[in-house]
Amino acid sequence: MQFQQILGQTEAKEHILSAMQHDKLPHALLLCGAEGIGKLAFATAIAQYANCMQPLANDSCGKCANCQRSGQGIHPDISFVLPIMSKEEKGKHILSDAYMGDFRKAFLQDPYFSLEQWQTFLDGANKQLMISVHEMREAKRKLLLKSFSAKFKILIVWNAELVNEKGANAFLKILEEPPERTLILMTSSQPSRLLPTIISRCQRLFLQKLSQSEIATGLQQFNGLPLTQAQQIATIADGSMVNAKGYLEESGVALNDLYVHWMRANYAGNYVKMNETIEKVYKASKEFQRAFLRLAIKKMRDSVLFHLNVSQLALVTEEDKIFHSNFSKVMSVPKAEMMLQETENALRYIAGNGNSQMVFMALSLRLFGILRG
Ligand SMILES: [Zn+2]
Repeated sequence: MQFQQILGQTEAKEHILSAMQHDKLPHALLLCGAEGIGKLAFATAIAQYANCMQPLANDSCGKCANCQRSGQGIHPDISFVLPIMSKEEKGKHILSDAYMGDFRKAFLQDPYFSLEQWQTFLDGANKQLMISVHEMREAKRKLLLKSFSAKFKILIVWNAELVNEKGANAFLKILEEPPERTLILMTSSQPSRLLPTIISRCQRLFLQKLSQSEIATGLQQFNGLPLTQAQQIATIADGSMVNAKGYLEESGVALNDLYVHWMRANYAGNYVKMNETIEKVYKASKEFQRAFLRLAIKKMRDSVLFHLNVSQLALVTEEDKIFHSNFSKVMSVPKAEMMLQETENALRYIAGNGNSQMVFMALSLRLFGILRG
């Protein structure tokens, strides 16, 4: 990828470009930050720039043979390590190279795809993804090969916190003293889970959450969403493309309608309808569940704005207006505060792997209590 294709991250781009132009790029870089902000995309842009034959001041040229190959993810001097499920076939360990074709396709289609999407793709919903010692040995072997055509031998480790201890140990020496012209780029959304031996050998670069307009641009660019829908989703995505896409994932279920049905059921204290709606939520992916709760938080706030007669401050559609004008009649500021508190708690429980069915049922009942209290 080129830097210009990456959403936001202006500061990090400038920092990296300046380091590369002054030949001061560390040989091992750890890209940290929340999920869905483009760490992997950023790593590929660094790799492409490092090997570009005619780099510009602020980006790779995008045209030379190295850029062409990097852009398609097929540069022989740029290799990837991906988390996969541990598997053997005919006595041989399957390594992430076996999945590179699919990974490339997914990445080229949407450079902001998530680890959870990758896991679903590998059909490993309940299995642990990891980066094994065999994988790290192979990565090391590749880094020690002579480069084919490029200035740098580059390794990109996606979600480096999933490298297990043996894998890390097998890799420590090369991470500490790599051959000349080697670049090791690791990404992690959970750097606190990384082994200290890895962290201490890398320079850390923190990427930022994306702004609402950057998310809206991304949804249009990579997911083909119309502007207004993209803007609406951007307001509740908390700076992450992965969060934003949680809203698109279950295309059969319109989140907005689901919220409206749910709130009506909560107000009426209709257990059957409560259960009907939340069943659709808790049976979906965790991303969808979080997306639903974030949407609920936004909608509750919008209802308060309607209640306070400042509806012009809410970013809502015509359809929303009808719901909010009605719902705001049963709202009050103290009620809204309690409801928001409960919903935010539910979001934390879900993020912390709470039992989704219980969390949503309990939340429904509490909202019922507040609305009628
Ligand atoms: Zn180039």
